[in-house]
Amino acid sequence: MKISQRVMQLAESATLAVSAKAARMKADGIDVIGFGAGEPDFDTPMHIRQAGIEAIKSGKTKYPNPASGLLAAKTAVCERLRHDHGLRYEPQQVIITSGGKDAAYMAIHAVVDPGDEVVIPAPYWVSYPEMVRLAGGVPVHVHGPEKNDYKLTPDLLGSVLTDRTRMVILNSPSNPSGVTYHPDEIRALAGVLRGRDLYVLSDEIYDRLLYDDQKSISYATVSDEAYRQAITLNSASKTYAMTGWRLGYAAGPVEVIKAMAKLQSQSTSGAATFSQIAYATALSADQGVIETMRVEFEKRGRYMWQRLTQMSGMRCPKPTGAFYCFPNVSGTYARLGVDGSIPFASRLLDEALVAVVPGVAFGMDEHVRLSFATNMEQITAGLDRIESWIGRVSSPRT
Ligand code: PMP
Repeated sequence: MKISQRVMQLAESATLAVSAKAARMKADGIDVIGFGAGEPDFDTPMHIRQAGIEAIKSGKTKYPNPASGLLAAKTAVCERLRHDHGLRYEPQQVIITSGGKDAAYMAIHAVVDPGDEVVIPAPYWVSYPEMVRLAGGVPVHVHGPEKNDYKLTPDLLGSVLTDRTRMVILNSPSNPSGVTYHPDEIRALAGVLRGRDLYVLSDEIYDRLLYDDQKSISYATVSDEAYRQAITLNSASKTYAMTGWRLGYAAGPVEVIKAMAKLQSQSTSGAATFSQIAYATALSADQGVIETMRVEFEKRGRYMWQRLTQMSGMRCPKPTGAFYCFPNVSGTYARLGVDGSIPFASRLLDEALVAVVPGVAFGMDEHVRLSFATNMEQITAGLDRIESWIGRVSSPRT
């Protein structure tokens, strides 16, 4: 039986081998410390869970109507965008999706034709290039300089634009690097895209998780033109610790949202009805719950970054958002006798019982990603293990 070329050509997740191995080791009772998960360790706040329970109890268990999202959820999104960013969106410019991943997938499929180029700054979230390839598009990777914390500069962006560029993907704060573009940097990138017939998929899924007074803006706020180019993507997953509810949204030009809605009507039929009701509550209720989680992430991130930067052979941009550290560990490769992030992560798992994600999955083989969405005890113990492992493997063997 044959499998389609499209799916055959999809890259296997490079992270799979290490994470599958970590899961097997844990199942065997081995005390592995996991820094792999891109998921808050907090529970969904109780008032949001309660809204979901009430929705189920009151029979909100039928198909979502319309498939593109309940009006209550769309209105709550519009209100948040207005309140948080001063952006004016009408409900018909919003689609509620089954997670941010679904929103990215549909936005890319709605605008990318075979042969179209999509600029994806590296390091990038693993799924962007594969989604682009599935749509027949051509991912164009561009690496930001280390001295700019791997962020894209206007010159670099300008150097990869062509007549075939149909989309530019921006993700700030970034998964995996944890760095955030300053408002001036976003404005400068938008300046390069001025007058261009393309869309900017602005993945702002970590926009509420900012640290050390980091400033940030939504791409669509830059100018009227940026607003017309922007497909703004967000999700309930990280902001409200709602990964399992599978909720996200995209806001943008009506014609793009309509195209996504058509796609959604022929694929998932929309995000779960009662989940959407809980999301509307999450978006419109008191936002204090986010601050509690943010403060905790900030404390953990600072600690993890300080420890990592003190380790021999490591350099790491300071996380100013999201919940990841992305150290360059290539300074240890020669001593370890490894030639990339997969063997590095594999040895770290075998010899120190710590699971990290190889950076090659994000387009940078000199790095690994550590999530600090885990408790302080685990973070401290895991970093102790890494530190003593690095010390051990870097001393001459007897
Ligand atoms: N974008 C980025 C940058 C992410 O890190 C993630 C989750 N890891 C997503 C989108 C999708 O998240 P979800 O589908 O859970 O909303």
